[in-house]
Amino acid sequence: MRKTIIAGNWKMYKTITEGIELVTGLKRNLYDINTVDIVLCPPFTLLSEVAEVIVETGIKLGAQDMYWQREGAFTGEVSGVMVKDAGADYVIIGHSERRQFFGETNETVNKKLKSALGIGLIPIVCIGENLMEREQGKTFQVIKAQLEESLAGLTIEQAEKIIVAYEPVWAIGTGKTATPAQAQEAHQFIRNLLGQLFNEKVSFGCRIQYGGSVKPDNIAELISQPDIDGALVGGSSLEVNSFTAIVKNCIGRK
Ligand code: PEP
Repeated sequence: MRKTIIAGNWKMYKTITEGIELVTGLKRNLYDINTVDIVLCPPFTLLSEVAEVIVETGIKLGAQDMYWQREGAFTGEVSGVMVKDAGADYVIIGHSERRQFFGETNETVNKKLKSALGIGLIPIVCIGENLMEREQGKTFQVIKAQLEESLAGLTIEQAEKIIVAYEPVWAIGTGKTATPAQAQEAHQFIRNLLGQLFNEKVSFGCRIQYGGSVKPDNIAELISQPDIDGALVGGSSLEVNSFTAIVKNCIGRK
């Protein structure tokens, strides 16, 4: 049985004061929930502050990105060692906004992924097609290439540790959600592919999150799909009530 995992991607939002206010509200509402894994991914500047607030709760911390080198002359970058030191257990890798605006490729995702695993961070690896690719009927071809190239060279033991987030780019921040059937179809494809790339255990055990305009009123139907094990939430994770409702609407659905 795969435990549901809901992660909030705060993107480039929240000053320190605003972030502390948000996490304090979430802690008040969610501190005793143990049937859903909850991960908060604030900007780098808030990692330590959020870590302090969630200490002794089940809520976990994640970073939104990392660089694959442990340290060095890489101005502006933050390493996996550093985000772990700040209190993170998870790291988002290959988010579509990083692919779209900052030159992230499957090759750099692969390097970051291996580095994260080496450090003991749990990677949330993002994949997903854009609108043109979907309209051209290339969805599965694109997902397959992204998954194969991003996970290239991983051992079975490493593959057992990762989380995959299927995020159709056309549904991110647009208010357009993939229908539960569209999302389930993609998740099932990803799960089968993991079986071919690794083995049955990896395929069955891997948690696959859906991301793309997840809201309190659409999460229940999404999470009820057999291969959807959680969500990566952007916009709706920036407000206490909406993120709380998303987490609570997952309880008892699996
Ligand atoms: C995301 O940032 O990964 C995301 C899915 O954003 P949103 O929920 O706003 O579409």
